[in-house]
Amino acid sequence: MTSLIDPSELFQDDPFRDFYNLDGFTSFALTTDVDWAPDFCVEDVLELVASAGLRLTAFATHRTEALVQPPSFVEVGLHPDTTRPGAEGIRRKIPDLLEIYPEARGLRAHRNFFGQNVAQLAKASGLDYDASVLHWRQPFCQAEIDQYGLVRMAYNWEDGIQADRGLPWSLDWVPVAGPGLKIFNVHPIFIYLNCPDDDYRRRVVKDYPDLTRAPRSALAPCIHDGYGARRFLIDLLAKLKASGARSVWLREIASAGRRS
Ligand SMILES: [Zn+2]
Repeated sequence: MTSLIDPSELFQDDPFRDFYNLDGFTSFALTTDVDWAPDFCVEDVLELVASAGLRLTAFATHRTEALVQPPSFVEVGLHPDTTRPGAEGIRRKIPDLLEIYPEARGLRAHRNFFGQNVAQLAKASGLDYDASVLHWRQPFCQAEIDQYGLVRMAYNWEDGIQADRGLPWSLDWVPVAGPGLKIFNVHPIFIYLNCPDDDYRRRVVKDYPDLTRAPRSALAPCIHDGYGARRFLIDLLAKLKASGARSVWLREIASAGRRS
């Protein structure tokens, strides 16, 4: 039986179609939300992705030395905490991070706390895209250009949700099949500790009100010894590399919108 709708025809005028995996699994993007992880945890994720020869978009929460002058396979975006307004509300959240990372082109809001006010602030700050919406394991995730001219794109898997739901560390849970954007996200503290579940992470980090300053000597002995998030990421990176699909930055997806 033939399909009534040919996806290629349906999206022929969509500027982001090249990233929709309409002809099998051809492209994906890896991201990481730094979430105030100490530098050595971020460096651990960078090393894992570098070993696999893939690209990474890292959303920074604070000054991380490895991201201030990132290696060539890393795009740096912003991860403002819009859940905690400062003295000036959330107005300074994006500009303050941009002072550290002036090359950033996009953001993902911490805890996905994103609304039209954040979209306006992002555009006013000169950013091109947002990736704050999580569509958990949904097929056909797409990108769109919103009323402010900001490209908005959804991501569809992350390590924290997998763990929080008590789901098994099985590669089958990462949705590579079917059409749509394939954007997968991990968190450095979760990866570094090789967390088997989210309670494990909470138990370890609760002693550090300022996680950025947690010393390696204190966290290294807490690395989980069994199969956990870090070993899963290594297996996932190997699977993605072996697929032959193209590893892209989110800014590449966003720039397709500018060409339309
Ligand atoms: Zn976050």
